[in-house]
Amino acid sequence: MIILDGKKVAEQIKTELKEKVDKLIAENKKVPGLVTIMVGDNPASHSYVNSKSKSSTAIGMLSKVEKLPAETTEDELIELVEKYNYDKNYHGILVQLPLPKHINEDRVIMAINPDKDVDGFHPISVGKLVIGQDTFLPCTPAGIQELFKRYNIETTGKHVVVVGRSNIVGKPITNIMFQKKQWANSIVTICHTAANDLSVYTKQADILIAAIGQPNFIKADMVKDGVVVIDVGINRVEDANLPKGYRIVGDVDFENVAPKSSYITPVPGGVGLLTVAMLLSNTYKAYAMKEGIK
Ligand code: NDP
Repeated sequence: MIILDGKKVAEQIKTELKEKVDKLIAENKKVPGLVTIMVGDNPASHSYVNSKSKSSTAIGMLSKVEKLPAETTEDELIELVEKYNYDKNYHGILVQLPLPKHINEDRVIMAINPDKDVDGFHPISVGKLVIGQDTFLPCTPAGIQELFKRYNIETTGKHVVVVGRSNIVGKPITNIMFQKKQWANSIVTICHTAANDLSVYTKQADILIAAIGQPNFIKADMVKDGVVVIDVGINRVEDANLPKGYRIVGDVDFENVAPKSSYITPVPGGVGLLTVAMLLSNTYKAYAMKEGIK
């Protein structure tokens, strides 16, 4: 059994991007820029936004965080997004979700220039992904594909079973994996709460991707021997032995599933760390497209 080291892969991706940005700086060229917009003070969003901003600065990118008060209106937010649509210094625009309830997320995402849609959530990006055109892949699913690539895990003809159909993980990883492309070209099944007996599907998986949001939900008797397991879940469970009173676990019962697996991602230390690396990669891609760099 091999543990898929998300930290190591994320560091590799960031180092490669830093080399590209260093080269731009040495040539006195403009660097890629990322603006992150957040509304309100959701503590989890704060921590994600800070990590995105710190990582982009660390590799030499231009990074700006726009923190707006919780009472910001939908129109005010869209006006700011539109301002950055025209700002030549920022190649990527990310609006941190979730937004406060009075704001329509769909309308805000639609306002982002698809050429700057580094989160890959704009319907144009989603449509391009589905029909196999080059586009921005949503960051967490892109990170999963990067793991297959960097660990040389065969995906062609393999049965990928995805549990979860969210727009940010389940649907996009499904759309990525069935494409007739390298590190995809798989036979894909997508499951959700309407499945009467989930294990009927999960037991058939050569590659199982769990994006459920339920701690330790996938048990050893739900998978076959030799399965590749990608655990996207990030769940807090109480742990009185730890000073903070909780620990983070995935959607997979790691302790019992790992011995049956050929490859498995740990939580933490797996998929989660790749999300920011892929965001930076998408920002570089947006920059390269805009500046005409190959
Ligand atoms: P959502 O809550 O949006 O979606 C969960 C999906 O799982 C739904 O489609 C739901 O089905 C399905 N599901 C829930 N319970 C069951 C069940 N008992 N049987 C079958 N299907 C079930 O979650 P997200 O996709 O946003 O996130 C999933 C997990 O991944 C979370 O733990 C989240 O924290 C984590 N995550 C991690 C990221 C990272 O690593 N960077 C990024 C994003 C998410 P239905 O549609 O029928 O309700």
